[in-house]
Amino acid sequence: MLPDMHQAEPIPDSVRADIERLLQSGDLFRYTAPDNAPVKLLEQEFAAAMGARYALAVSSCSAALFLSLAALGLAPGARVLIPGFTFAAVPSAVIHAGCVPVLCEVGADYRIDMADFEERLPGCAAVIVSHMRGHTSDMDAILRLCDAARVPVIEDAAHSLGTVWRGRKIGTLGRVGCFSFQSYKLINAGEGGVLISDDPEVIARAVILSGAYEHSWKKHDRAQEPALKASFERWQNRLPLYNLRLSNLSAAVIRAQIPEIARRVRDGRANHDRVAEALRRHPAVHVPRPLDGEERAPDSLQFSLPGMAAEQIEAFVDGCGAKGLSVQVFGRSRDNARAFWNWGFLPEAVELPRTRAMLMQTCDIRLPARLTAAECDAVTAVLLEALDAALDVARAPVPA
Ligand SMILES: *Cc1c(COP(=O)(O)O)cnc(C)c1O
Repeated sequence: MLPDMHQAEPIPDSVRADIERLLQSGDLFRYTAPDNAPVKLLEQEFAAAMGARYALAVSSCSAALFLSLAALGLAPGARVLIPGFTFAAVPSAVIHAGCVPVLCEVGADYRIDMADFEERLPGCAAVIVSHMRGHTSDMDAILRLCDAARVPVIEDAAHSLGTVWRGRKIGTLGRVGCFSFQSYKLINAGEGGVLISDDPEVIARAVILSGAYEHSWKKHDRAQEPALKASFERWQNRLPLYNLRLSNLSAAVIRAQIPEIARRVRDGRANHDRVAEALRRHPAVHVPRPLDGEERAPDSLQFSLPGMAAEQIEAFVDGCGAKGLSVQVFGRSRDNARAFWNWGFLPEAVELPRTRAMLMQTCDIRLPARLTAAECDAVTAVLLEALDAALDVARAPVPA
């Protein structure tokens, strides 16, 4: 029997006392209490967990991405380089910020194609690196190119909480790092997000833009720090207030899961590697290896079927589905929000042949950290059986 791959883990019991207190007091707004509102405590704890100076908790990762761009003060119509393989939220945030998304190719290993990135970087005012499905692009090369061009890097780390790149936490490498607490991410609050940065000017602007009206910024951590205070005072009354704030109730749910990060990363990686290793033994399957120096934190598995024909891939997906396992091929599942040709809202037509080819043969399954080894093996068995059946069906002789 296969596990339900979409079932969430229970929220740790430790949340109950906090929620009870919030229900008693009715104090759900982050700026009502004079100090230590759950949202502020979340920001302190998340910043500390990441080793970042500042954090701002907001309503989603999409909001965090938008605020990052807005906080950088890009000119209207500025071009922002993003990977051609990402979630639709990323180009959407660029458009929301009044900028123009520029897409670059992503290779067969699901990571940014560095030659194409380098070619498209000139003329771009900012970069969003989306570590899609937790696959880290070559951050050394990206930071080298962007530093030389003086282009700020925003990390979309929605799927990378717990990922380490050469000893540094993903999300802390760029000027801003953005994370999601939506239900399909490592921490689940239904909705929610956070951005982290060491830059007082960026964080002050993001805080005000997020809806810190009047002098609410005084209730933020480190607000009395001279550099940060000066930035807040500089931008007071000079920025629009978008209200992308987080509620105390969500903050409580998120805080209770911070101590779970390490375990979820460890178990998610073990589950991923167990299934990935088994799939690698099949000649039709390609499972890209982590890059040198990358320690991943997966809660899903991607693999490619480079030699298989369209009908074979379809038969494989159907075969898995018949056994109760949902497999999506990014480029073949209907209206997939991670296929760039479904982003009909883009202001400029784009074609990325290499990214398209990758999307047409890359499979995506959820693989939550809570699965047992036996459940992972059951998933592997379904995948391998459906694979062999799909290859057989297609090899059957065509009637004359
Ligand atoms: C989920 C996700 C987002 C958006 O996060 P929300 O919190 O739902 O707005 C952005 N980028 C990537 C890569 C994601 O997986």
